[in-house]
Amino acid sequence: MAVAVYPGSFDPVTLGHQDIIERSSKIMDKVIVGVLKNNSKSPLFSAKERVKMLKSVTGHMPNVEILAFDGLLVDFVRQCHADVIVRGLRAITDFEYELQMSQTNRVISPGVDTIFLTTNLKYSYLSSSIVKEIAMYQGDISAFVTPEIALKVLERAEAVKKGARLAE
Ligand code: ADP
Repeated sequence: MAVAVYPGSFDPVTLGHQDIIERSSKIMDKVIVGVLKNNSKSPLFSAKERVKMLKSVTGHMPNVEILAFDGLLVDFVRQCHADVIVRGLRAITDFEYELQMSQTNRVISPGVDTIFLTTNLKYSYLSSSIVKEIAMYQGDISAFVTPEIALKVLERAEAVKKGARLAE
């Protein structure tokens, strides 16, 4: 059985992420979306909230599982008994970092390979950071995330503007 881990921050999950999950779930027997807990990016949503949002947008895909993790990605991949890591490639700017990460992962854990799915052209410009930036000004994010996620992001952005603390 071919099992893949698709790791990321997903703060919040965008239509670009959903496209990669959907496409990889058709290639693999099982896809485990790994939500990074400890990240230096001061997330808008806690890992628990991000897991919940991902579960709600992937509920129709029976071979997709959502789990939070911290520590080394290769350790998480091993724990999941997965064969590969899936990453999305949007532009040449992603390439350098992704190449470095995949090569590093193969050195520290030789059995772990990374496969890349190139972005759907529709979402090639899209990132969670852009969504958050627009949301901070209560702009229209309906082309980037599902309506349910948009509501949550706009609400949280408003709360943060009013002084609420960012998620841990
Ligand atoms: P990270 O913080 O690890 O970059 P992200 O949540 O930003 O996590 O992204 C997780 C993965 O999804 C990465 O492989 C990234 O390249 C990919 N990704 C992000 N946005 C898109 C998009 N619009 N289209 C395709 N892949 C994407």
